[in-house]
Amino acid sequence: MARALAPGDADGVRTLIVPAADLLLGARCAGCGGPALVLCRDCGTLIRPDPVVVPVPPTAVGLRRPTRVRAVASGAHAAVLRRVVLAWKEDGVSRLTDVLAHHLAAAVVPHVATRHPVLLVPVPTSRRSRRARGTDLVDELAHSAARLLRSTGLEVGVEQALGYTRVTRDQAGLDAEARRSNVDGAFSSRRTGRRSGGDIVVVDDIWTTGATSVEAVRALTAAGRRPIGISVIAATPRRS
Ligand SMILES: [Zn+2]
Repeated sequence: MARALAPGDADGVRTLIVPAADLLLGARCAGCGGPALVLCRDCGTLIRPDPVVVPVPPTAVGLRRPTRVRAVASGAHAAVLRRVVLAWKEDGVSRLTDVLAHHLAAAVVPHVATRHPVLLVPVPTSRRSRRARGTDLVDELAHSAARLLRSTGLEVGVEQALGYTRVTRDQAGLDAEARRSNVDGAFSSRRTGRRSGGDIVVVDDIWTTGATSVEAVRALTAAGRRPIGISVIAATPRRS
């Protein structure tokens, strides 16, 4: 007869499971490449969310609308966090959505006012990138972060409030000025009929120059919906 599992067996089982999974599935930690189903414990510790305020380019929203919003990132888009975000975004490791949702949620919390409902508005995903990735990653991330935040007792919803007005180029490889003109006026408010309530927070995955998030703020403001903040997983460190 098989004996019952003793408490100490769990670690033993785990040390067996991870190399087995590595062997069978080729599962590797997205941070260091070591054997792990999603992320190893060390990398999980290294990328623990640590929200920081990101400087919003002063000319961006300010020039066109008297709106100032605060942008918060859960970490720097560098080292382990950068590798994890790229594995999620470029290599399609969808299991990382739940990991990175913690980062997005942590970047939303500083915007939350007591007892105010919050509405996350994802930056819209272009048809090109939805086709390339087979899904709308930022939308999935927003829903996963909203679930986490609701589990803490907050009232949090997600609304796809924005759409594209025209085709844009891929932002990768463009400098700050080119990024801004590439997305300038590219978003508009979707007329969905039903409008959800709550303090609006624009959410995106990576902050590079801020052009995309700032365009989302502009489009929402133009539609009479003024966001209170921007939240992203990671911000690219600024070169001095
Ligand atoms: Zn690792």
